[in-house]
Parts: sequence; C-alpha cells; structure tokens
Amino acid sequence: MKETPIAFRTHVSIFGNTNAGKSTLFNLLLGQDMAIVSDVKGTTTDPITKAMELLPYGPIALTDTAGLGDATAIGGKRAEKTQKVLNKTDYAIYAADSSDFDESAYQEAKNAFDKKKIRHTLVFTKSDLSDGSLSLKHPDAIFVSSNDEASIEKLRKHLVSELTAVAPDENTMIGDLLPAGSTVVLVIPIDSEAPKGRIILPQVQFLRDCLDHGIKAVCVRDTELEETLKELRKVDLVVTDSQAFKFVSSVVPDSIKLTSFSMMMAKMKGDLKKLARGAYAIETLKDGSKILMAEACTHNVSHEDIGRVKIPALLRKYTGKQLEFDYYVHHDFPKNLSDYSLVIHCGGCMINSRSMLNRIDFCEEAGVPITNYGVVLAYVNGILDRSKTIFGF
Ligand code: SF4
Repeated sequence: MKETPIAFRTHVSIFGNTNAGKSTLFNLLLGQDMAIVSDVKGTTTDPITKAMELLPYGPIALTDTAGLGDATAIGGKRAEKTQKVLNKTDYAIYAADSSDFDESAYQEAKNAFDKKKIRHTLVFTKSDLSDGSLSLKHPDAIFVSSNDEASIEKLRKHLVSELTAVAPDENTMIGDLLPAGSTVVLVIPIDSEAPKGRIILPQVQFLRDCLDHGIKAVCVRDTELEETLKELRKVDLVVTDSQAFKFVSSVVPDSIKLTSFSMMMAKMKGDLKKLARGAYAIETLKDGSKILMAEACTHNVSHEDIGRVKIPALLRKYTGKQLEFDYYVHHDFPKNLSDYSLVIHCGGCMINSRSMLNRIDFCEEAGVPITNYGVVLAYVNGILDRSKTIFGF
C-alpha cells in the first residue's frame, strides 16, 4: 500500500447551500468526475471523501458534503451527516453561488467553523456570473469558475499556503520525545490476536516515525525481549503492545522508560492527559455502572478480543463489580453519552486527530470521563505512572 492512510491526511471539506456548486468544485479540485453534478437541488445526499495529493503541501482527504439550507426531513438528515463531517474537518471551504449568495447561511456556517476553531476559505463559484460587489464585501474570498482553470489553480495555491500555515503537527508519535540516534525496542507479540503475515497499523506507523526521525528501532516478540535488552548497549525506550504490558513491565528494568503503542497513538491523536485522567474514574465504578466501549472501525472479533473480552474481564476482576458494557463501533459517536459512567475508546488509528479530540470534547460536555484501551490496561496493571513518564507528566 503506497497511499497515506485517510486518518493521516489533513481533512479538507466543502460546505455550502444546496446547488452552490460544491460538487463541481470538488471535481475541479480533484481533477476528475467523482461527484455527480446536477442542477437539481440536493443531488449530493451522502458525503463523498477522496484522497488526493495537494502538491506541494501533501496528502489531503477532500470531502464533498450534502448541501445545507433544505428545510425538508431529508434535508435534516443531510444536515446531520454534514455536521458529522464538520467534526473531523481540519480546514473548511465554504462554497457560495456568486449569482445567489445567501449571506446569513454563510454567517451561520462561519460561526460553526469559528466555534470549532476550523479555519476556512469563502469560495464564490460561477464567478462569471458575479457583478463584482461581492469582492468588495469579501476581499479575502476566492472566485472560481469551471470554465477558468486559472481560477482553480489559484484556489489550489491558496489552499496549499493556508494548510501549510495551519496544519497541526499531529503526525509524530516519537519524533518530539526522543532525539535522533536514540534506540527504541518495539515489543510485538505474535499470538493468536496478531494478523497473519503482517503487523498492525499503529506498529507500522510507529516504525515509520522512528525512521523519519533517525531513531533506531529494534522489533522483537515478548519472548525475545529479555535477551535483546541484554544484547543492546543502550535502550532509551521500550514500546509494547498493551496486551503484553504486565509481562514486559516485569522484564524491562526501571532505568528504561516503558510505554505502549496505544499510549503513543493517544498522544498523537488525542489528549493523552485527559485520557489518563479518565482512567482514574475506574475507582468510582459501582455495581450496574454502564461503560461504553467505543471503536472507530469494524474489525473481526475473536475469542480474545481486547474490547469485547479482555478489558471487560479485567475491569470486572479489578473492581469486583457487576459492570455493564455497551459497544459502539462506528465513525460517529452516540448521543446518549450521559447514560455512561465511563467511555473507553480504542486507539483510534483509523480516525484523524480532529475526530478524536471532538470525541473527547463530547464526553467532557456530557460530563463523562473518557479513557482508552491502552491507558486502561496500563492502569489496571499498576503501570500507568511508569508508562506516562516518556510524555513528561
Ligand atoms: S478498532 Fe480502533 S484501534 Fe482498532 S483498528 Fe479500528 S480504529 Fe484502530
């Protein structure tokens, strides 16, 4: 697979009223006909996302959303889907028809972008129909026309400069924690949970991150860890699969820092401090407490599945309480968060940082603590404090 995973791409989304020319703009930016373009209002019913390289910036995920401003029931459903896109958007394009500009709809969208601290560009489509007054009122807006390739190129260049200025440095797990030349041992157990013939995405991403930052990475199974540590002259950090935390912690001397891939992913994608704080809510669980296990993608569930089997069993044993677990496996997040005493999220390797941070915000707004799988495993094994030291808190 040569392509950058979607979760690692900057998410740029096109919003605007129905028939504002969003799909045309989407196709023009992509340089191909992906979205159906029609003069019939509301042609785009579901958001469409395509990966593209916006050179020289790099990989982005471009999304065409369903139009806003349709008061029907179907329009309401579309608006809900569009709101979900907003939750993962890093940068917004607001498309408006030059010949039919709805200023109040734009202001409403602008408020929504500002509330979520999403930068945006106002793009007037069908610029050949503009009478010139819009450019006076909105001097920062970009005017484009499907008949004018130069206008699209101007928009591309504008996006490159905007994204370069605002792109979060979310793509490093280790590069800001250890200097080049450091040595890290990666512990990757090859058990019945390990996928056949490959290693999982967080491990691949971590390895690549080490290579990008000149950090030496040695990969071993848990069974070869002790011997490897004896052979290596200097080890700065051991990163393990969370499920082997307890054993690995007993093997790695206290002088060597230890953490997990899950903690690394949480640091890169979300707010590790908040997720670590959430783990302490385990102490407040009672008989009948409801816990939401949230996973950001579907995957095969095995008899040793971490979210369905291992963590529920560990938490019941640790607390001695009759706990209830619900599961939510989706790119969205449920609305009834306040029904829960605790949310435990997966590592979130398939979603971007913006989505993960929004999920943490939703939990905060609902007054529910949130933590993640790796943090819980570290906590119940009594090594959360040790596994946090590499992050400096
Ligand atoms: S369930 Fe979560 S951690 Fe596991 S693969 Fe999916 S997104 Fe990644």
